[in-house]
Formats: sequence, structure tokens, C-alpha cells
Amino acid sequence: MTSFSPKPVISGIRHKREIHRAGWIIPDSMNVIQNGYLEIENGRIKGIHSGVPREACIDHGPGVLMPPLVNAHVHLELSALKNRIPFDKGFQSWVKTLLDERAALSQEVLVREAKKAILDLLTSGNPYVGEISTLGITQTLLENSGLKGVFFQEFLGTAAEIGCVQKKDGLSFSVAGHAPHTSSPDLLRLEFQSRSAGMPFSIHVAESEAESEFIFRGKGSWADFLTLRGIDYSAWDIGSKTPVAYLEDMGLLDPLTLAVHLLQATPTDMDILARSRVKVCVCPRSNYNLHGRLPDIGLMIQKGINPALGTDSLASCDSLDIWDEMAFIAQHYPGLDPRTLFSMATLNGARALGLEEVTGTLAQGKRADFIYRPLDAQTEKVVFERMVSDAH
Ligand SMILES: [Zn+2]
Repeated sequence: MTSFSPKPVISGIRHKREIHRAGWIIPDSMNVIQNGYLEIENGRIKGIHSGVPREACIDHGPGVLMPPLVNAHVHLELSALKNRIPFDKGFQSWVKTLLDERAALSQEVLVREAKKAILDLLTSGNPYVGEISTLGITQTLLENSGLKGVFFQEFLGTAAEIGCVQKKDGLSFSVAGHAPHTSSPDLLRLEFQSRSAGMPFSIHVAESEAESEFIFRGKGSWADFLTLRGIDYSAWDIGSKTPVAYLEDMGLLDPLTLAVHLLQATPTDMDILARSRVKVCVCPRSNYNLHGRLPDIGLMIQKGINPALGTDSLASCDSLDIWDEMAFIAQHYPGLDPRTLFSMATLNGARALGLEEVTGTLAQGKRADFIYRPLDAQTEKVVFERMVSDAH
């Protein structure tokens, strides 16, 4: 996988009055201005115009000024595990090795590599994230980094630990559940209820075959694993249902739920998700590496679901860069409209994190937060094709 690196990519909120001009302005996938400029004032977008500005401006060149990319599902605290875990030994082996390797690394190394990954995100036009943290080590890093989005604290232990509602400039805090097959129903319900007001509750759903088998049949390799660890799941209301239906039965699917992966989702699951207006995030490169298959993005869109993009961690993906994720998707889903892919990487990500009022598109009143994508193209069609395919 190639990394997107043409400079400059600018991001970060502009506070002064400034005029930013470029060959293309793309406020959102359906609105494109050739030769235009952005008017910025007091940290907000004041206007979006076509033509040549009358006052002094920052001229970025022939490329595209556009909304910042959103990585709606990432685990920055696992960045030190890059290239340390083989993908070809099966998912359960991958999980076990991940836990062992993570435990063997010092906090210093975990923090150092997370810092590097944060810097990469900021300099490649990916300033918004949905960070899932189990260890809690990335909270301070995010607060001090300039990265924005939502910090989700994931709880795998007891319910008594739960409680985290804070807010900092550009960074919100909420709660994540891990997955239907790894957490008790009581814990998942408590996590769901503990999310910050109006903020999303993130959860991995329908990722592995073992998860689906366990929830549907109550047996299999995952059931054996839980039994081996002394976890009694006899009171869990599983059996003859998919992980998505299981969460629905528990009342955990609503418009603030962010369901991640859905690699094993059935068409009926998709109907449930669409009806519940659940937000969805897909991580195709990670899925491909760990499970050898891809989520059915085409069917999701057909059912009215608008998925956001995530990468998962560097333990299962080459990079945390959404440009790379788009290029991979463009290659593996040739029927997908590049404009749809653009929305997945921007607006859908902002919606998934509950941030559509402040970012996701360039619009009057939204945060003056944008990126510049160097590119040389003469038509709208070519602009979108090149943006999503990593071509310059
Ligand atoms: Zn994940």
C-alpha cells in the first residue's frame, strides 16, 4: 500500500480573517467549485465563493480545498504493534498474540509510537479520529496533540470502572463497548447508558465468524475460549440470532450507536441497522488482512446506510491514513462512485462521531477546518477519481 504524501496538506483551524484560494473547492460531494476561495473569520467559515478574490489571499495552487478526513475507528494505543503480529494464523491467534505483545511492551514504547502515529495523521490531512482506548494512555496525547474527534474509553473490566464525561476544545469523550461476544450483556447495557449526552457509543459488531457462530449457536471456538477462561455465559440471551439482532434485542441500537466492522452482516442485519438509523463504520483493509474478506459496502448503501471509514489499528493495517483506505476501496469496489467514497471519508465520518454540525463539509458557520489536496485535473470527474485513487 502506498502512502499519500504530496505536500502541502494543511489542516487545523484558522482563527484570523483569511482568504484561501485553490483550483477546486469541494464543500461536499455534490457541490464543486472550479476556481474559488474560502473566506475565514474567527475560526469559522464565513463564505465560499467562486472566482478571484479581491483581497489578499493564500493561494494554495491547482489542487483541492476540502473538508478534513475523518478516521472514525482507530486504536492509537496499539501503534507500537505495527508489523509485530502475523495475519495468516487466524483471527483468534491474532487476538492472543496482540494481547501478549502489548503486555510485553513498556508504556514508554506504546506512548512513543502513538505520538508518531498522531503526527502522521495530522500531517496527512486526517485531523479527526474516533479513538478507542482500553489502557487510557492516549487521552492526554490526544488532548495535547491538536487531533480532534471523539476519545472513546473502552471498558473490558467491571462495570464499576465506568464513568468518563469530559470535553476539551475539539475533542469529546464518550464510552465504547468492545463486542457482543466479549462483554456480558450487563456490561454492554451499562456502557451504552454511560455514553456522554448526545455522543456516540461505539462497538465492534459482526467482525469474525467465531463471533457470529457463538452468538448464533452458543458453541464453537469462542465458547470454548470463554469456558477456558472461566467466564460463565449461560445467562447471556444468545442463540438463533446474529450479533446485530442480539444487540437490537438488548436495546443497544439507536442513532447514536456506532457499529464498527459488520463484516458478517446479513441482508436482514442491514435492514435492522437501517431501520434503527445506527451509524456504521467499515474498516476494509483491516478486515481483508485479518479475515480475508470485505464488508458489503454496496449492499449497505443500497439499504440506505451511509458508512464511515476507519482503519482499526496499526496491528491490523499498514497505515491509519484514510487516503490509503480510500485508494484500497476504490481498487476493490470498482462499482462504487468516487463521490460516495469521498462522502464516506468526510461527511459520514463526521456524522458517525456526532460532529456534523462542526465539520464533515465546508459550510458557512462550520469550523474553519479544511485540508488542501495537491492535484492537477481539468474536470470534476477526474478530480474525484484521482482523489480516491491516490493518483496526483
Ligand atoms: Zn477496533
